[in-house]
Amino acid sequence: MFKKILIANRGDIAVRVLRACKEIGISTVAVHSEIDSNLMNVLLADESVCIGPNRAMDSYLNISAILSAAELTRVDALHPGVGFLSENSKFAKIVGEHNVKFIGPSPEHISMMGDKIIAKKTIFEFGIPIIPGSKGEVISVQQSIEIAKDIGYPVIFKATNGGGGKGMKIANNEDEIANAFSMAKGEAKTNFNDDNVYMEKYLANPRHIEIQIIADNYGNVVYLGERDCSIQRNHQKLLEESPSPALSKKDREKIGKIVVNAISKMGYVGVGTIEFLYENNEFFFMEMNTRIQVEHSVTEMVTGIDIVKEQIRIAAGEKLSFSQSDVKINGHAIEFRINAEDPQTFIPTPGMITELYFPGGIGVRIDSHVYRGYKIPQYYDSLVAKLIVHGKDREECLARGERALSEIVIEGISTTTELHKKLVQNKEVINGDYNIHWLERNLKNL
Ligand code: ADP
Repeated sequence: MFKKILIANRGDIAVRVLRACKEIGISTVAVHSEIDSNLMNVLLADESVCIGPNRAMDSYLNISAILSAAELTRVDALHPGVGFLSENSKFAKIVGEHNVKFIGPSPEHISMMGDKIIAKKTIFEFGIPIIPGSKGEVISVQQSIEIAKDIGYPVIFKATNGGGGKGMKIANNEDEIANAFSMAKGEAKTNFNDDNVYMEKYLANPRHIEIQIIADNYGNVVYLGERDCSIQRNHQKLLEESPSPALSKKDREKIGKIVVNAISKMGYVGVGTIEFLYENNEFFFMEMNTRIQVEHSVTEMVTGIDIVKEQIRIAAGEKLSFSQSDVKINGHAIEFRINAEDPQTFIPTPGMITELYFPGGIGVRIDSHVYRGYKIPQYYDSLVAKLIVHGKDREECLARGERALSEIVIEGISTTTELHKKLVQNKEVINGDYNIHWLERNLKNL
C-alpha cells in the first residue's frame, strides 16, 4: 500500500480523499493556492505545499508546480480528485513518468474517453447504444443541416472536448442551425481551447441515469447500480439519487451487464461512470467519466462500499475485495448539492460564512470543507457541502432529507438549500416524476 499520497485538488473532494487515506493509514499532502491556505483539507493534511496564485490556471492546473510539490514531499501516489487535472491524460502520463502512481485509469483510457467523438465510437463498438448523431466532428453549417435532416430536429451541438455542461447549443429547426453551430464553437473555444463540435439528436424528455463501475488489474469488473441525476440546471446536476425511481430491477441488471461487458473488453482499470440518457425504456450513451464523481456518495450509502478507498487500493495493485454477487442495493439515498449560489438565478454568491450548523442524526451524511468564519473565494467551484441522506426506502429518505434540510444554518451567503426544501415538498419530485428539463421548466412555480 502507498505510504504518502498527494491530493491534487481542493475543497470537499480533497477532504473526502483525505478521510479515505487516514482510515487506510496513508499520510497526506495537500496542495493549495495562496488564498486556500486556510482550507479544511489543508488544515487536516499531514503536510501542505502552496503551488501558486489564486487563479486555477496558476495553481490547481499548474502541472509543473504540482509535480515539484510531489517531488519535494516524496509521495508515492497522487489522487487528482474531480475537475481540474483529473481527466487530463497528459498530466496522468507525466505523473507516472515521475515514479508517482496516478490514482486513476491509464492515460490511454483517459484520452480515449476525453475525446467525446472517439468515446462514442469506442463505446458503440463495445456494444453500448449511443445517441444518434454525426459520425464525428461537424465542420460546416451545410453539413450540419444534412445530418439534422437525417436524425430529425431538435438537435444539439456539443463540444468534442467539453465538460461541465458548457459548449452545448440546441437547434429546433434549420433556421437555428447556423447560430447554434457558431455559438457552440465559440463557447467550446473559450472554455476548452478547442472549437471542435459534434451533433446529436436532442432528446425531448430523457432522464440522466449513470452507472458506477469499478475494475481492478486482474480482470474483475463490478457495477454498483445507478444514479439518477435528472434534476439539473444549465446541464449541471443539483440533486442525485440511487436507485433511480424510473428503473426496474430487470432494466438495471440488463444495462449493468452491458456496461460490465464493455468495460471488460476495454481493459479499463479504476473507477468510472458511464452516463446515459434514458427515454422510453432505452439507454443512450452520452459520455464516460474516468474519475471519481461528486455524486459517488449516494452509491456509497446504498451499497456500503467506500468507493474512494477501493479506488486507492486498486491503484496500489490490490484485488477488488468483493464480487458482483456481494453488491446489494440497500434502501435509498439522495444527495443535495448545497452550492453558494442564488437559488433562483444560480449566480455564484462567494463570501464569508458568518454562521454555520450542519444537521446530523440517523442516515445523514455531510461531505464538506467549510466552517464558520470561512470565506468562500470567487475563483473556484460553488459547492459548499453535499448533504446525503439514506433511508430504508425512498419515502423515508425524502422525509429525512426534508428534516435535515430544515436543520441547516448557513448565514452570510445565499445557498441552494432553499431550493432543495421546495424540491422535497414538490409532488412530482415525491412521485419521482421528472426528467432533465423538469427543474428549468418548473423553477418559477416552485
Ligand atoms: P458534460 O460533459 O458537459 O457534463 P454531458 O454530455 O454529460 O456533458 O451532458 C450534460 C447534460 O446535458 C446531460 O445530463 C443532459 O441534461 C444534457 N444533454 C446532453 N446531451 C443531450 C442530448 N443529446 N439530448 C438532451 N439533453 C442532452
